[in-house]
Parts: sequence; structure tokens; C-alpha cells
Amino acid sequence: MMNSPENNEDEEKLAECPASSEEAGRSSVCEGCPGQTLCRMQGGPDPDQEIIDVRMGAIKHKILILSGKGGVGKSTVAYLLSLALAKCQSSKVGVVDLDICGPSIPKLLGVENQPIIQTPYGWKPLVSPNGDIKVMSVASLLDSDKTSVIFRGPRKTGLIKRFLKDTFWGKLDFLICDTPPGTSDEHMSIVKLLKNAKPDGAVLVTTPQEVAMATMRKELSFCKKMGVTVLGLVENMSGLVCPCCKETTEIFPGSGVASLAESYGVPVLGSIPMDPMITECCESGRDPMENYPESPTVRSMMGISNHLISLINR
Ligand code: ADP
Repeated sequence: MMNSPENNEDEEKLAECPASSEEAGRSSVCEGCPGQTLCRMQGGPDPDQEIIDVRMGAIKHKILILSGKGGVGKSTVAYLLSLALAKCQSSKVGVVDLDICGPSIPKLLGVENQPIIQTPYGWKPLVSPNGDIKVMSVASLLDSDKTSVIFRGPRKTGLIKRFLKDTFWGKLDFLICDTPPGTSDEHMSIVKLLKNAKPDGAVLVTTPQEVAMATMRKELSFCKKMGVTVLGLVENMSGLVCPCCKETTEIFPGSGVASLAESYGVPVLGSIPMDPMITECCESGRDPMENYPESPTVRSMMGISNHLISLINR
């Protein structure tokens, strides 16, 4: 079929359709559209957004933890960073695990298999055994750790919205948001829902291998497109800590993380080596800051946390 001028006009109108925005039913392009009345009824400010804004307004700093791919240590960095921040000036810290399909934060922070309690003020977050960190995760809403979450996109984003809207964090200094790997519609929802709360930005986690850094470039371009400030890159598994002598062996000498960061004009917050003691803490929910303060991984993480604090307080 030939494209008539009328068809072209219709296509242009469709491209400008503001149905999913606050302009729905109110914009000049809506005039004469058969769906205008319906859109006008459904459009307008989202009442859930107002609640999210109030909840987030009580939290001084919101930091997203992102990675281009799974397995690079994103949740481990979220967990170590929350512990390190709590140690700095006794800050009040919360971690929200928005990795709906692969939640691991409750295990790392030692609150696995504890039920979430509903209160008149909202979901009460769990508290880590040392009393330092508040935790909220989909894992805590599941019947067992063997139950999987089989949700399509809209239900996953709906759950993310509920976490942000319904969790009663109270006043916090830092909220660390562990996100799924990659750049999906969940990420777009998280960024959109937190837009008014003005998150400080994102910490991007990568390992030095080129396969991980290739996905990191996509993550950096996602942040640019979505207007998310990149606070810096964390290079995980840069080396290996010997369990006997505690010496760190560089596994990827001269890795390209620094030049990747330079080419995008973002800082490298630091590098953390792989330490079997940290893996053991991750498996058992023990606090590595208390148990292994001399671990090179713990020391690097304390440095990263101080670097981050100086960046966000600038
Ligand atoms: P992701 O969230 O990117 O999928 P995880 O944080 O779950 O990755 O890390 C994957 C595995 O690697 C976990 O078992 C974790 O304990 C381990 N791990 C990650 N980083 C380190 C590290 N620096 N030292 C020791 N173990 C680590």
C-alpha cells in the first residue's frame, strides 16, 4: 500500500503521543484524538511518586550500584560499601536490593530467611546482626531461598516501585541501591522513580577483563543518556590475595579500567582484590570489617568509601 499524506500525518501524531506522560490528554496533539478523554482521566501526577519522594527525602544520599554484566561483584561491592560507609562517622545506612531475579543482599548481610514485617508506616526493613545496616530485598518476601521470581517486565518494575514506596527507612545518611546487571527496563524505572529524589549518582563495578569492560561502556552510555551522574568505577577482582602470606598478586597487570575511565571523563574510585576471606564472609553473613580489618580488600573498600564521601560532599 502506498503511503498517503494522511497516513504520514497519523504516524507523526503517533510519534508525538504523550499517553505515558503527565501531558496525556492535555497536549495540543491530543486535540481531536478519540482517546483524549480516557487519557485525561488517567494522566496527571502519580500519587505513588509523591510517597516515594517523601520517603527518599528523609535519606541524605542515594547511590546506585550498577554493572554491565552479572558475576563481576556488584552485590559484593554494594555490601562492602554499605559496611564501610556505616563505619565512617557511624553513618546510618540502608541497602535496597532491586536485583529482583537474583537477590543476594540478605545472605551477604546475614538477614537471610527473616520475614519482613508490615507496620502502619510500611514495610519494616531487616537489620544486620551488628545493627548497622537496614536491608530490604525481594529475597525476604519469598517463601524459601529456592523459590524463583518469574515475573515479566511490568511486574518487576511494579515490585521495584513498591520497594521504593512502601519501605519505611526513616532517616538515613546513605541508601545503597543494588540493581540488576545490564541496562534493562528495570534500570529505566529505578532512574525515573528516583528522579525527583536526585540520587547522588552511580558507582559502576567491573572486572578488568575486556568482556566485562565492553558491557561497562554500554553502562556508561546508559548513564549519560538517562542523566545519571557517574560517581566512579570500581575495579573488582583486580588481584588475588594469598590466603597464607596475604600478599596480593596482580592478575591483570596494566588493565584497561583506568584508560576506560579516562576516556569517559569519570574517576576510578579504587581497585579491590579477590580475597578468599571475603568470599567466606559473603557465604556466612559475617562482617569482614570486624573479622578481617587487615584484608587488602577491606582496606581498599574503606579507601573507596572515603573517596566517595569526598566526591559527594564536594
Ligand atoms: P554480581 O552481583 O556482579 O553478580 P557477586 O557480588 O554476587 O556478583 O559476586 C560473585 C561471587 O564472587 C560471589 O560469590 C562473591 O562472594 C565473590 N566475590 C566478588 N568479589 C569478591 C572479592 N573482591 N573477594 C572475594 N570474593 C568476591
